[in-house]
Amino acid sequence: MESADESFDFVIVGSGGGSMCAALVVKSMGYRPLILEKTDLFGGTTAKSGGIMWVPNNRFMKRDGVADSTEQAMTYLDHVVGDHGDLPGATRARRLAYVTEAPRMVDFLVDQGIELNRHPYWPDYNDDQPGALKEGRTVFAELFDSGLLGPLRRSLRPNFVPVPVKSQEMWELPLFKTTWLGKWTMARLVLRMATAKLTGKHWVSGGAALQGRMFHKALQAGVDMRTNAGVQRLLTDEDGSVSGVLVKIDGRELRIAARFGVLINAGGFAHNQTMREKYQPGTSAEWTATCPGDTGEMIEEMMRLGAATAQMEEMVGNQVALPPGLPGRIALVVSEIAKPHSLVVDQSGERYTNETQSYMSFCQDMLSRHKTVPAVPSWLIFDSQYMAHYMIAGTLPGSRKPRAWYESGWLVKAPSVGELAQRLGMDPAKLKATVARFNGFARNGKDEDFNRGGRAYDRFLGDRAQAPSPAMGPVSRAPFYAYRFYPGDVGTYGGVITDVHARVLRESGTVIRGLYATGTSTAGVMGRTYPGAGASVGPSFVWGYVAAKHAMGAAMASRRTAGMTAAVHE
Ligand SMILES: Cc1cc2nc3c(=O)[nH]c(=O)nc-3n(C[C@H](O)[C@H](O)[C@H](O)COP(=O)(O)OP(=O)(O)OC[C@H]3O[C@@H](n4cnc5c(N)ncnc54)[C@H](O)[C@@H]3O)c2cc1C
Repeated sequence: MESADESFDFVIVGSGGGSMCAALVVKSMGYRPLILEKTDLFGGTTAKSGGIMWVPNNRFMKRDGVADSTEQAMTYLDHVVGDHGDLPGATRARRLAYVTEAPRMVDFLVDQGIELNRHPYWPDYNDDQPGALKEGRTVFAELFDSGLLGPLRRSLRPNFVPVPVKSQEMWELPLFKTTWLGKWTMARLVLRMATAKLTGKHWVSGGAALQGRMFHKALQAGVDMRTNAGVQRLLTDEDGSVSGVLVKIDGRELRIAARFGVLINAGGFAHNQTMREKYQPGTSAEWTATCPGDTGEMIEEMMRLGAATAQMEEMVGNQVALPPGLPGRIALVVSEIAKPHSLVVDQSGERYTNETQSYMSFCQDMLSRHKTVPAVPSWLIFDSQYMAHYMIAGTLPGSRKPRAWYESGWLVKAPSVGELAQRLGMDPAKLKATVARFNGFARNGKDEDFNRGGRAYDRFLGDRAQAPSPAMGPVSRAPFYAYRFYPGDVGTYGGVITDVHARVLRESGTVIRGLYATGTSTAGVMGRTYPGAGASVGPSFVWGYVAAKHAMGAAMASRRTAGMTAAVHE
């Protein structure tokens, strides 16, 4: 590229999941990467997230004697994702590349010194399908002391959980009122926080632990990373191949050459309401939990260069509530709506789906229900047993709820189910019948309408102290309550189509040379499904790893050819 202000071997746009992984691969092969991040913080939504990666057949499963294989994982994905003509990002070839490369990526990170582990039990979300594993295939990063970053600690995007809770503890904590393990977990957390204060540790958890560890390693490896650096345009050579980027850094425009490729890891378009209206009508940027940089302009920029897109209508749905005055504005209520002594109804007072299925499929059902019966928002109906035992929008079980919640009508209370229905504008007879039918299922431990609790995953989200099904308990003790929630998201799930090497493709199927993409900038490898926890962060890391290996492989080949040519000329 002519007249570049700076030149690097591999330029990475966005500091999301795959970015630092790709940068470490580039570094390990002796080349120079650059990471450009638009916001003032590194880590993207990935740092904000749970930081879980879905990695079949990983080294920790082998260590713990949990049997898995490429074939078994492929059987599962073949059943859950399947082959569909309109899902070119989720072809069998791409799924196989994912299942093959994911454990290698984990091995690479461990070799680099990133402390990872596996969750002891987190069932695949469709654990009733062939090839599924009840133990799950999830990998996470151990808690990280962000103090190791020195003053750059403040440049790491914070996690959505403000306390240093370990991955496996996340599911125990909300049960501290009903189980001994929950109480023990709470005690351990309090002790950890007190010790951290005394010893000056700055523990971060989930995605901040993962991205914090990656950030730390990238700094140690000498990776050049810049914040407030929003890429405006991709620069191309005469033959159309991508050769660099135009970036605005602290208000100044720079042309940066990328000798062996550009990787887009710039997230999706969850905060771009115009794009949402075009591709996902009926959803709102107000309901997303993604980081503010998730605005979609790099997807549009790749489209300008002829990139084909798919799955643009898909998002990873996540049930969110918007109680007034909440710090952080939105509450993710996936685990809350799966607890006993509660059920979900549409605005007419009818149940319409299994409350304990994966968040993505729940929100798909919610939006689909809304086409015939108003269901956005839907209502969580619960009783005083629920109020005493479980968290509500992140508040402690049994705690006094803010008055503004009642005054605003977000949280509604009534002495009977009939009166609750009246306050919600529903037919009392209908809601009473819905609750009575559900209570029958809860007492028998079998949901004949939607099979709530039928899968290991459903029960995992419930409460082990509840019998006969951990997933259900009758809604029977006054007073009764309701709060409304929306089909929010933790990311969009469509974008540019990429091949097995993470290269961006045109509609014709040809490669846009020099251009790679990963994460939610792409049409996801899991199609319209969420096979297990970590089906977003996992692919972001894996395709970043794959892209860097491919680009650097080509770089090494060209270096060899240049060496041979030089030898011939000598
Ligand atoms: C609370 C929460 C919990 C979650 N938990 C999990 C989980 O445990 N496991 C899982 O798999 N998924 C989880 N998700 C979803 C997952 O976090 C995201 O889908 C995933 O992190 C997206 O990663 P990414 O690499 O595509 O992009 P991101 O991590 O969002 O990074 C993209 C980065 O690119 C930057 N950027 C955008 N445009 C530009 C530009 N023009 N120039 C430069 N930089 C740019 C953005 O500012 C951002 O920092 C969770 C999400 C949330 C919100």
